[in-house]
Amino acid sequence: MQPHLSPQIKFSLNAVEVGMRLCLHIQTGDSKESRIKTDASPVTVADYAVQAITGALLAERFPEESLVAEESSATLQETNNRGILDAITELVGQYHRRADSNEVCTWIDRGAADPGGRFWVMDPIDGTKGFIRGGQYVIALARIEDGEIGLSVLGCPRLNPQLQPDMDCGGTILLAVRGKGAWARRLGDLKWHRLQVSDQADPCFARIAHSYEPSHTNQGRLKEILSTLGTRVDTLPMDSQAKYAMIAGGTCELLYRLTSSGRPPGSECIWDHAAGTLVVTEAGGKITDLNGKELDFTKGRTLAVNEGVLVSNGILHDAALETYQRVVGKMG
Ligand code: AMP
Ligand code: MG
Repeated sequence: MQPHLSPQIKFSLNAVEVGMRLCLHIQTGDSKESRIKTDASPVTVADYAVQAITGALLAERFPEESLVAEESSATLQETNNRGILDAITELVGQYHRRADSNEVCTWIDRGAADPGGRFWVMDPIDGTKGFIRGGQYVIALARIEDGEIGLSVLGCPRLNPQLQPDMDCGGTILLAVRGKGAWARRLGDLKWHRLQVSDQADPCFARIAHSYEPSHTNQGRLKEILSTLGTRVDTLPMDSQAKYAMIAGGTCELLYRLTSSGRPPGSECIWDHAAGTLVVTEAGGKITDLNGKELDFTKGRTLAVNEGVLVSNGILHDAALETYQRVVGKMG
């Protein structure tokens, strides 16, 4: 069965598709000059351009609805970043419509809304490090109402429709609608196929996805988890919510997002999990934090009352939680 495309779904598919085309166009040809130099996570012209276009589309289609998104224009407005802002304005002109740089900054800053009630949440490029390195990245957009994710779209430029990594496939887009299901289709196609998590029930054969970046996870704990589970298959180091897409499509079964020095409990950003969460649960999977508690999207821009994240195909969830608790008990 094909999904019914409401005006909100059409808007979100359009925003994510435009973003995917823009990113596919830039890909790793992204030059050093098009990155903002900060000590924190890298951010490229593509991150800003995708957010600006989504802000602009939202202002046109649903002007009363708010957006909570990762980037802000503050750094761009510094004089030494003038060239970057010009490049972003140029990209927005190519992929949406001509505007001056002030208007582009206004569109980006639509993403500064306070989360609460009904809002959209976006990571314009989740996995920017992967985008730059030639790894995975996604464009993630979801709509939340009173803490409940109603719909979500994940644009995965480097996953094929079978939800396997593929650099040259042209990209796959995933859609999830609460209570209705999750689907995927190749970018540019019209026909959707239903997503269903894998039925792997043996923890030893669970394919485990984790952050590609060693600093994003607790390596020691991860190693201990694998040995406690008795993992007999290779793990999948991978950037971004592409990991959620792969669990939804049955390409892997487990994802441990462990707390790390860079991400202590309560500091996971909502845009790093919202879209992926609905895609996985609507495909039959399960998500909680590492203590088995439901993710709480009502606490602001972070999952302030959650500790890490555990994503599974459902069947393996209890075993995976129990394993985590045993490892913590042993290692502290
Ligand atoms: P992943 O590729 O799964 O590691 O997730 C990418 C996301 O991790 C980025 O969008 C960042 O918000 C977030 N991130 C950045 N630095 C850290 C860190 N030190 N620890 C954990 N997550 C981080
Ligand atoms: Mg992110």
